[in-house]
Amino acid sequence: MIADPRMRVVAVSRFWRTPAHPTGSGPDYVNACAVLRTSLAPELLLALLHEIEAALGRVRDGTRWGARGIDLDLLAMQGLVRPDADLQAAWRRLSVPHQQAETPTTLILPHPRLQDRGFVLAPLAEIAPGWTHPLTGRSVRQMLADLPREGLEGMTPDG
Ligand code: ADP
Ligand code: MG
Repeated sequence: MIADPRMRVVAVSRFWRTPAHPTGSGPDYVNACAVLRTSLAPELLLALLHEIEAALGRVRDGTRWGARGIDLDLLAMQGLVRPDADLQAAWRRLSVPHQQAETPTTLILPHPRLQDRGFVLAPLAEIAPGWTHPLTGRSVRQMLADLPREGLEGMTPDG
C-alpha cells in the first residue's frame, strides 16, 4: 500500500473489479477506497495524491475518464466543503455532457460525483458507511441504496 510520512492509512476497502463504462470501451477497472489520517490541508493532500499518481507512472495529458493506470481522488475530508456550498452544488448537479466537457481546476469537496458512482459507494460503504454528505445530508449507506440497480452492475469484490 502507499506509504508516505505525511499521511497514515487507517482503513482500506476490498478491491472491486468494475467494468469500463460504456461496456466494452476498455479494460476493467479496480476500485478501492481508503480512510487516511493526515494533518495536511486539503489542497496539499490532493497535491500529495497527484505526486503518488506521478510516482506510479501517471502522465496527465488532459484526457479524462479514459483508461489510465492510476487515479487517486479525494472523496471528502470530514464535513469540509470546498470552494463553497454554491459551487460544490453546481458541480454536483452538472449534467453528464458537461461533466465530460468540464474539468475543475480547483479542489471540490466532497468530490462532486461521489453520490453517482457505484464504484465509489460500494467500497466506501465498507469503510465509512455512516459518513454523511455535509450538503445533502445523505449517508454513504443511503447514497448506495439510492443508486439505480445498474449502478452496481458487473462489480465484483475480491476475496
Ligand atoms: P477524474 O475526474 O477522472 O478524477 P482527473 O483525476 O484528471 O480526472 O481530475 C481532474 C481534476 O479534478 C484534477 O486536476 C483535480 O485538480 C480536480 N479535482 C477537483 N476536486 C477533486 C477531488 N475532490 N479529488 C480529485 N481531483 C479533484
Ligand atoms: Mg482524479
